[in-house]
Amino acid sequence: MTVIRHFIDGADTGETERTGPVYNPATGEAHRTVAFASASEVEQAIAAAKAALPAWRATSLIKRADVFFRLRQILAERTPELAAIVTSEHGKVLSDAAGEVSRGIENVEFAAGLVHLLKGERAEQVARGVDVHSVKQPVGVVACITPFNFPVMVPLWMVASAIACGNTVVLKPSEKDPSAAIWLAKAFQEAGLPDGVLNVVNGDKVAVDTLLDSPDVKAVSFVGSTPIAKSIYERASANGKRVQALGGAKNHMVVMPDADVDGAAAAAVSAAYGSAGERCMAVSVLVAVGEIADPLIASITEKVQNLRIGDGTDAASEMGPLITREHRDRVESYVTGAAGEGATVLIDGTKRIAAGERLDENGFFTGISLIDGVKPGMKLYEDEIFGPVLGVVRVDSYAEAVELVNAHQFGNGVAIFTRDGGTARQFEFDIEVGMVGVNVPIPVPVGAFSFGGWKASLFGDSHIYGPESVHFYTRSKVVTTRWPDNTPAQVDLGFPSNH
Ligand code: NAD
Repeated sequence: MTVIRHFIDGADTGETERTGPVYNPATGEAHRTVAFASASEVEQAIAAAKAALPAWRATSLIKRADVFFRLRQILAERTPELAAIVTSEHGKVLSDAAGEVSRGIENVEFAAGLVHLLKGERAEQVARGVDVHSVKQPVGVVACITPFNFPVMVPLWMVASAIACGNTVVLKPSEKDPSAAIWLAKAFQEAGLPDGVLNVVNGDKVAVDTLLDSPDVKAVSFVGSTPIAKSIYERASANGKRVQALGGAKNHMVVMPDADVDGAAAAAVSAAYGSAGERCMAVSVLVAVGEIADPLIASITEKVQNLRIGDGTDAASEMGPLITREHRDRVESYVTGAAGEGATVLIDGTKRIAAGERLDENGFFTGISLIDGVKPGMKLYEDEIFGPVLGVVRVDSYAEAVELVNAHQFGNGVAIFTRDGGTARQFEFDIEVGMVGVNVPIPVPVGAFSFGGWKASLFGDSHIYGPESVHFYTRSKVVTTRWPDNTPAQVDLGFPSNH
């Protein structure tokens, strides 16, 4: 069986004393094994990154950019190969896997243009003969810890900017689908990245804790679930590192009475059930304002009738399985418990039937679920389920919808569907969520902007990728300069004044 190990200082390496299974979620078969790094292996990776730092940060910006231009080419040309790797370990359908590669390419393109963003500032003659300028310099070795649900895109969210800014990286991908990260590291190498600049260690808490506690790691980027994000934030910041830790989500889609029912229903189906709901920007709560609820539910019900669920490698499949058997069972437990919480299950995915066919019992499949009468206080409403389960909350007014969304612990993404520009504008002003869509159900910002939620969806103050990543992955230095002139030298023990 293939063993996925680590990629340290440009080489495939690693002991296999501790390992974990990697499943093909469509068949339920543990088809690969992943090595879990020991603390000393992680220290080896950190040492490789530290050793590569001086030469990499001294490499010209144009040469750094060249790596990203070549990487872009490799990713674009070999998207099907990478997408197949993602599907074989994550389960999402191939077109969706290719979609995540293409969104990751945006971060590579952004990194290739970084010269523009690394420009500092300069003020001339702040005092007679004195100029001041600022520069942005790398922070050092960066640790990147990523979740299972986007094994290509989320690593690229982090490593592209971190490396372009002159840092070196140790990436710890999810142990559930680790192969894509190794593929990416090899692609970077092929694109000309020097060995040691990007290292990958596979593993679990042992690897993560070693990264968080190492004095040689200066910054930590994390994306994953909220409890882990919070603990990572606390531990790494207690160790004096800068940290950005993105957590979980519960994204609401507010549908106003004036919305186009058919369009809103199609958007809700795509955003709730795409990638089996395992997206941090998936819509999981539909907030129907007023009388639109019934026609909206009728339209959604009609649209999902023939939705094909199956092996992601089958071009006919529109939705694949969940990541593990345990996760599938946890997702289904919310549906099974819904009636007991007072909600009404309109479509029951736990029956595991789609388009009239029974789903393969060996794979980690569940059907799609649609639940009406969901209310705050229900576990179904409060928790992140991370599966193909859409809950409907009925409210009477715009104000009630806003109050509902703002009271939720998560604030990652939100969308409003309306034909009224004034309502949309007011929503943008009122809503306490980091990313807002107006008639756009999954408002993941394009690579030139930054991505991040509010409240329990983000610990730290920097959003990820885009301009905020340049701020996060660099330290600014301000230089005050005076060159000798003919002014007589003077001793002055007072605080320097520029007047
Ligand atoms: P997870 O929190 O279980 O794992 C994320 C990473 O942390 C993995 O690399 C994992 O190995 C590591 N990890 C897990 N337990 C740990 C522990 N006790 N100590 C140290 N490290 C640990 O998340 P997941 O299940 O892989 O991913 C799904 C979650 O990620 C969802 O909650 C989803 O909303 C969230 N997510 C958020 C965003 C965002 O941008 N906000 C994006 C993608 C996913």
